[in-house]
Amino acid sequence: MPAFRFDNTYTRLPRLFYSKQGAVAAPAPKLVLLNHALARDLGLDFSGMDDAALAALFSGKVLPQGAEPFAQAYAGHQFGGFSLLGDGRALMLGEHVAPDGRRVDIQFKGSGPTRYSRSGDGRAALGPMLREYVISEAMQALGIPTTRSLAVVATGQPVYRERPLPGAVLTRVAASHLRVGTFQYAAAQGDPALVATLVEYALERHYPHLKDAASPGLALLQAVGERQLALVVEWLRVGFIHGVMNTDNVTIAGETIDYGPCAFMDAHDPTTVFSSIDHQGRYAFGNQPRIMLWNLARFAESLLPSIDADGERAVEQATAVLHALADTFEAGWLAMMGRKIGLSGSESDDRALCDDLLSWMTQARADHTNTFRALAVDGLPSEAVFADPAFGQWHARWRARLGRQGDALPAVFERMHAANPAYIPRNHQVEAALAAGSTGDLAPMHRLLEVLADPYAARDGLDDYAQPAVPDGQVYQTFCGT
Ligand code: AMP
Ligand code: MG
Repeated sequence: MPAFRFDNTYTRLPRLFYSKQGAVAAPAPKLVLLNHALARDLGLDFSGMDDAALAALFSGKVLPQGAEPFAQAYAGHQFGGFSLLGDGRALMLGEHVAPDGRRVDIQFKGSGPTRYSRSGDGRAALGPMLREYVISEAMQALGIPTTRSLAVVATGQPVYRERPLPGAVLTRVAASHLRVGTFQYAAAQGDPALVATLVEYALERHYPHLKDAASPGLALLQAVGERQLALVVEWLRVGFIHGVMNTDNVTIAGETIDYGPCAFMDAHDPTTVFSSIDHQGRYAFGNQPRIMLWNLARFAESLLPSIDADGERAVEQATAVLHALADTFEAGWLAMMGRKIGLSGSESDDRALCDDLLSWMTQARADHTNTFRALAVDGLPSEAVFADPAFGQWHARWRARLGRQGDALPAVFERMHAANPAYIPRNHQVEAALAAGSTGDLAPMHRLLEVLADPYAARDGLDDYAQPAVPDGQVYQTFCGT
């Protein structure tokens, strides 16, 4: 048995925050993927275990020593409507403390029903769990905060969606699974002491330097707001659409979580939506900043009793923080866009320069990823899409701006390459890898993972991974909770 070093702090919170649970049944578990690099980082040694033992471990059939499985309670605004929720298909094994002192939650996803499953079966299909694995690992390699995927095991048990699908369990690793929705759950109990307890716990775990802040609630709002808005800036950088930015999917640690309906866009278009259930485009690419601010406003509401005993003053202070966070986002976005087009220093026209490029990209249906890579050449890029005179005008303005900053073009291009990936998880490549993986052929998945592990270095022979395949006009769709 590997040496998980469990030290569970969450279960020291009041009982209404979780529900203990027994082991999990998996009739014929089979190991599909194991993240060796992540295991090494976490100080976990699985070398003494064969695939059967690993499959039993990562399906929950055999619990490791020190595991105390439980499901977390939380609430959340889903597409704007408030519900009491909880881990309906996830089970926490415990908090593992890595050799470097880092504490991470080890959680099964798809391991069966819990107290919070409502009408759901608590299970997950293999395809979506492979999807979470590949996209979360891609995010990690892109340098974007994310939960990680340690293993995928096929359970040998079908799950019934529109048709029977092979079932699977994903082992997710996260800084924690505390969410905005955890605070909403605490606030919904109507006892300010519960919110205070949770604030103290979250500060201790994720922001220990803020423990002695004059207003713990306000300090937490500010810190989480900064991390979450910085995260959205990163999503916008790489064309990532989360797809289900409900408040229960917004973590206090600031990691991207819940890879259900997410996808990367090809043609740049702020109105892009992939999720089959997002009919109003609430979680469209360009709405993500506004939605994150909305989610942070819900967070602020749940924190009010921990911000100030005087309700009116609490609202005033929270509002001021939210306004400042919106400004922080704008500055962060401009700095990110500046990196994408190689700017240094700042000029009053920079915002317009960035906006105008994105507007041109939208109307030209230019690829979000490849456009920024193509810009880093002497002269005009040669691809057909750039023959547009409107682009030529923008290009001349941009080059004049670069000319005034006085650093040589090779240095500018190097900076641009560090901000603009050559490879993202293209939808057709992900789908092909999942389709093969679901029938037991993991070669395309391993190849895709290898390409995405080094996203900023363009390599020969990988053109198939650098191009969108879905012809324009054809709509790619993703599915939630599958
Ligand atoms: P999500 O949209 O994936 O964040 O899920 C929202 C809520 O639904 C969470 O509380 C999940 O645990 C729960 N849920 C999703 N899928 C299932 C399922 N198959 N069975 C039970 N609960 C589920
Ligand atoms: Mg979720």
